[in-house]
Amino acid sequence: MAIRKIVELGRDDILRKHSRKVEKFDRRLGQLLDDMADTMYEADGVGLAAPQVGVLKRCIVLDVGEGLIEMVNPEILWAEGEVVEPEGCLSVPGRRGTVARPERVRAHGQDRKGKHIEVEGEGLLARCLCHEIDHLDGIVYVDKMIEDVTDKLEEEAREAAEG
Ligand code: ZN
Repeated sequence: MAIRKIVELGRDDILRKHSRKVEKFDRRLGQLLDDMADTMYEADGVGLAAPQVGVLKRCIVLDVGEGLIEMVNPEILWAEGEVVEPEGCLSVPGRRGTVARPERVRAHGQDRKGKHIEVEGEGLLARCLCHEIDHLDGIVYVDKMIEDVTDKLEEEAREAAEG
């Protein structure tokens, strides 16, 4: 178990870079995914992408309360609907804002051994998948933010995603 340091927006431009496709499904990849999950749980987040720990590889981990999901080389296959809800990011501490995300998505990718996997989800899981996959292309939620969550929305925000 190893907790890695989470990169904060503005401190490092790694969050603005495109991550590379994973080609080698070796022990090092497994170690990265294990560390990412440990780091996410330690920070009380619901998702984490590899660039957030300073690694430009297309890997994400998520847990919206239904168990850990690891995806390597994830891509959105299809999306439907739209929901505007507040979200936050472990790389943007102390801030939240509303973002329009699909209501339901299906993503595919690979597991740590390179086997093809698909994940379908709605609500928070769909939001989280989109948020984390965005990180792999250098996109941070604040780029898509409609408005900052103010005190008025504080209660709503407390329920919201952190990834
Ligand atoms: Zn994030």
